[in-house]
Amino acid sequence: MICTCLLFPRHWQRGFAENDFERNKAMAISKIIIVGAGPSGCVLALLLANAGINVELLEASDRLDDSPRASFYPWPAVYELQRAGLLPEVRERGYVVSDGVSWRKVDGTLLARMDVSAVPYDRRLHGLPLGKLLQLTREHLDRRSNAKIRYLHKVTKIDQSEESARVFVDTPDGEQVFSADYIVGCDGANSIIRRKLFGEEFPGRTWDQQIVATNVYYDVSKHGWGQGAFIVDPEYFCLVALLQPDGLMRVSYGETPGLTREEYIARQPEKFRKILPGSPGPEDYKLVTLNPYKIHQRCADSFRVGRFLLAADAAHLCNPFGGLGLTGGLVDVGNLFDCLNGIHQDLADDSILDRYSKVRRDMWFNIIDPVSSQNLRHLLQDPDVAMKEDPLFLQRDKFSDPEFVAKLVTGINDIMHDFTKEYNQSTTTPADVPVNKVAADNLNGVTASADESLLQTTVS
Ligand SMILES: Cc1cc2nc3c(=O)[nH]c(=O)nc-3n(C[C@H](O)[C@H](O)[C@H](O)COP(=O)(O)OP(=O)(O)OC[C@H]3O[C@@H](n4cnc5c(N)ncnc54)[C@H](O)[C@@H]3O)c2cc1C
Repeated sequence: MICTCLLFPRHWQRGFAENDFERNKAMAISKIIIVGAGPSGCVLALLLANAGINVELLEASDRLDDSPRASFYPWPAVYELQRAGLLPEVRERGYVVSDGVSWRKVDGTLLARMDVSAVPYDRRLHGLPLGKLLQLTREHLDRRSNAKIRYLHKVTKIDQSEESARVFVDTPDGEQVFSADYIVGCDGANSIIRRKLFGEEFPGRTWDQQIVATNVYYDVSKHGWGQGAFIVDPEYFCLVALLQPDGLMRVSYGETPGLTREEYIARQPEKFRKILPGSPGPEDYKLVTLNPYKIHQRCADSFRVGRFLLAADAAHLCNPFGGLGLTGGLVDVGNLFDCLNGIHQDLADDSILDRYSKVRRDMWFNIIDPVSSQNLRHLLQDPDVAMKEDPLFLQRDKFSDPEFVAKLVTGINDIMHDFTKEYNQSTTTPADVPVNKVAADNLNGVTASADESLLQTTVS
């Protein structure tokens, strides 16, 4: 195994310093390697390829990931999908949420309902299951002559010099070495790039709660439920939302941690009977997929070490309630694209990559982590107490005021940042500081854990 501390001189671990500036400015980029052809890697590859930068994606798997994960994207993500040229087809293959969102008790009693009619169409939540988004991005990449996806290419080791970065890759033809000007780890929660740079520790915490995400055909509209509903309940907290126009629903519900996959599968019918309107039995719905997930709030100490960069789940994780996981990841890759394109076009020196790391980490600590944590905490309460004490629900009378709601939902746009405004500046910044007050404050109610199986996927 290659030892990170031997490979990377100290100035790479903290980012390039001022006296490196002259040496590193004005570098046209000949190639970027992206490790992981998940949604973040594919969107970054498209943005780069569209700007004329050669890009190669190394993907361990040979198939599309069709697991029930990302499905809903607020404006910051939609903006990046638009920049990548994907938006018309995202709308065609998915849908734009037109209905409000409601909060209910587990017996279906309506607690609060938000009206989104004043949110401009463009700025509304867009819905498209992860597998379909991946299919779309890969179709676009296949049409770019300067973008190549190599399937069954699993990165195992990394290395870098002053001139380039390298990865060692298990391929069907044996081990091969690939090199590029920069290598971006978009390789998900268990990122090999992050682990080779920083070791096994991924700072943060794991929630005590476990969730099970399912895709299921079941018509909730005949029970008066709209496109999206949350159940507020310490045991049966849940999201029930329309996933695609043909009636496929996402139902993600709270579960007891630590069971086997088989046990989660066996318990699912009883959960649905309790959670879904009409108390359906298995004969009343068509279950398509079921996956148990651990949920985490975690962020790497830096998103840059020399010529290696991290983005999306490889860099940070959050629980899925509120759809900020991939959304944060897509904003990362949009920002990273602007930084790399600035370097490529000689509009920025590569210290802008230190700024990328700092800005994106700050956004995670100050907005994504606290907001996503709060989104889940709203659901984990006794609903009667929540109606009396939770500041969100105390404002519920205003939820029918479209202007109020429009303002509320646009708050998340603060995670966006325009790096093109930083072009032509020497942007050398101090190294990232991993400790952040907001994150420390936010530990209430969750458990710190050095859990090694970080994958936000099946626990089986
Ligand atoms: C139940 C659930 C619901 C969610 N809902 C939403 C939502 O509505 N909205 C939202 O924004 N987010 C949501 N998320 C989060 C979202 O799914 C993730 O943030 C997103 O999938 C991460 O994308 P990624 O490209 O970073 O990583 P991944 O999707 O994990 O892709 C990583 C890729 O890297 C490849 N890879 C891994 N290791 C290697 C290696 N060594 N070499 C080569 N390739 C490798 C993998 O095969 C994979 O293709 C949800 C998550 C869950 C669990």
